[in-house]
Amino acid sequence: MKIIGDKQMVSVVDVGSRIKAADSRNLIGGEWVSSVSGETIDVENPATEELIARVPRSGVEDIDRAVRVARATFESRAWNRMRPIDRGRLLERIACKLEEHADELAYLESVDTGKAVSFAKMLDLPSTIDVFRYMGGWCSKLGGRTLPVSFDGKEYHAYTRHEPIGVVGAITPWNYPLALGAWKIASALAAGCTMVLKPTELTPLSTMRLAELCLEAGLPEGALNIVNGYGHEAGAALAQHAGVDKVTFTGSTEVGKKIVEYSLGNMKRVTLELGGKSPSIVFDDADLDQVGLGAALAVFFNSGQICFAATRLFVQDGVYDKVVEAVAGAASQFKVGNGLEPDTMMGPLVSARQQSRVLDYIASGQEQGADLVYGGKKVGDKGYFVEPTIFANANPSMKIVKEEIFGPVVSVMRFKDVEEVTRLANDTTYGLAANIWTRDIKRAHRLAHRLQAGSVWINCHGVIDAAMPFGGFKQSGWGREVSEEGLLAYTETKSICALLDD
Ligand code: NAD
Repeated sequence: MKIIGDKQMVSVVDVGSRIKAADSRNLIGGEWVSSVSGETIDVENPATEELIARVPRSGVEDIDRAVRVARATFESRAWNRMRPIDRGRLLERIACKLEEHADELAYLESVDTGKAVSFAKMLDLPSTIDVFRYMGGWCSKLGGRTLPVSFDGKEYHAYTRHEPIGVVGAITPWNYPLALGAWKIASALAAGCTMVLKPTELTPLSTMRLAELCLEAGLPEGALNIVNGYGHEAGAALAQHAGVDKVTFTGSTEVGKKIVEYSLGNMKRVTLELGGKSPSIVFDDADLDQVGLGAALAVFFNSGQICFAATRLFVQDGVYDKVVEAVAGAASQFKVGNGLEPDTMMGPLVSARQQSRVLDYIASGQEQGADLVYGGKKVGDKGYFVEPTIFANANPSMKIVKEEIFGPVVSVMRFKDVEEVTRLANDTTYGLAANIWTRDIKRAHRLAHRLQAGSVWINCHGVIDAAMPFGGFKQSGWGREVSEEGLLAYTETKSICALLDD
């Protein structure tokens, strides 16, 4: 099969009217090319079930080609001798370009994932743009340290350098494809790496447009390559490839474990951002006006398809009934509908498979004896909508409490005191995030120290910022993304030591 190449991405979107079911391609070395097999994967709008695009179904050969191009670019003077200050300026230009196209990207993200376009504009786009700006600032500041060597008493000059790891393979999920892809791309480029990114086959469109805009902003061809395909084919080939120095993966814990196995061959560096089962913890003294909406948004935002969704709600005895009522009251105000409608709060789930998985969990909650106090059903006949769903009187042995559902389902449980809730909140294989609602600030910080979670929010939830390390304890992941720590994860630290004594 001949690979068709082009400097232009084959249009996936005709903004303002409708998305065309066009055939789009992979981006390799600045050219938009079809897969070697010529096979494609259909991409649908989960709100309407309409076909909106086709992307290449790539395999080992496509991945190999992209990795070789990324390696050649990594070793090219155009990339590795670019002045740090100019690399920073390039990332800033990308941020500006994304800003110019923010409405278009939000629209793409909405029709592809189903999420509310208003929230994509409010959260996904700022998160995407900010990380390029933030990481751009690091390019000219990523210095090492000089080190005081004791050793044998002679005089040495010792220092560290943070060198780019090399070629990075990135694999992203479908819930925040644009922002989570941007976190990886901006950090890797800032560190001086090059990348091959495999977006999820379910929602690949915004990532391709992002890559196209990066090229328009002046990114050297080959520094960022996008290869579409299924996880077990293109994803596995990327994670196994001996020419990839690091793999950065965001997705389920189940696949994350496979990525670790795939990486063993050449002992790639591995960063994993995986699943979660985060707790919301509400004490008797909390500001209940804040808690109802806060705890409801903490789980129902993005229709519950958020890794740090607070799906276990622990409420202290004294306010239990009031909190259940307040969360149900807030949920009843959330309009479920097509993400393009301005008042939509919760869009559909991403696929028919995800919808039926979530409905199965809801059925299991009922079978295992939790009280369904709100929601529980699918909505409409077209699209993969599910109501916000609240189970009261759940207990830690239930499936809905133990397993990640990745849908709009919360389980509410009671607790007596800090000791009990610490034990309950930590009783999970995950450790991504937690939130605490109380007016007692000392208690809040003491509890925050004892929770096994990578992010703890006090009287708020989901505050994600490029300056704050993000990642999980336990089976929620390895390493951290964004922030200085996330940037250093794309570098190798080298110690250099010179003897100065004669
Ligand atoms: P997933 O693990 O099914 O897929 C994620 C990516 O991995 C996709 O690109 C997929 O094609 C690829 N993949 C699948 N099988 C593969 C294989 N065998 N080898 C290589 N790649 C493979 O996850 P998902 O369903 O897309 O996303 C939902 C999951 O992602 C949830 O568990 C959620 O908690 C997690 N997530 C975590 C974070 C975080 O930052 N911790 C953020 C978002 C989502």
